[in-house]
Amino acid sequence: MKGQRAVFLDRDGVIVEEVDYLRRLDQLRLLPGSAVAIRRLRAAGLKVVVVTNQSAVGRGWLSLPALRRIHAALRRRLGARGARLDAIYFCPHLPAAGGRACACRKPALGLLRRARRRFGLDFKRSYFIGDSTTDLRTARAAGCAAVLVRTGKGGRDGRYRVKPDRVCRDLAAAADWILAREAA
Ligand SMILES: [Mg+2]
Ligand SMILES: [Zn+2]
Repeated sequence: MKGQRAVFLDRDGVIVEEVDYLRRLDQLRLLPGSAVAIRRLRAAGLKVVVVTNQSAVGRGWLSLPALRRIHAALRRRLGARGARLDAIYFCPHLPAAGGRACACRKPALGLLRRARRRFGLDFKRSYFIGDSTTDLRTARAAGCAAVLVRTGKGGRDGRYRVKPDRVCRDLAAAADWILAREAA
């Protein structure tokens, strides 16, 4: 039996506005069209899984309860527009500054592997939509189709050199491309 397909989504700059270390609910703003995109992807039978690096936690700038409140608010706002996320996975750790890196901070695959175990996913048949080259690198390492959106960092962070499989204006356009591929 073939594994389940998923769309992995970065959070900041993809679903919500990019804010430097989003810490407060009033900084949480959905990007236009993101709720409809998530609703359509799930309606097509894809799992929609958020994977996000939140080193603000490790830096002591954001508590875990505060992060959970932000994610609850995100789910409520999407839900009000008929969109549901299958899961939100986050890495709370600091970047490894010479020390030992955790296994979950993107571009490591720990978060994606947790989703794979839970949902029986096939990375090769899945997609990753992100706004940073770290997201693209994660997609490559997993073997997912790598989709770059022009919102948020728009791939201009210059951290890794990775060519995306597709560049889209935003999450809505990325969903259009994925759904057209799935239908073909
Ligand atoms: Mg981002
Ligand atoms: Zn981590």
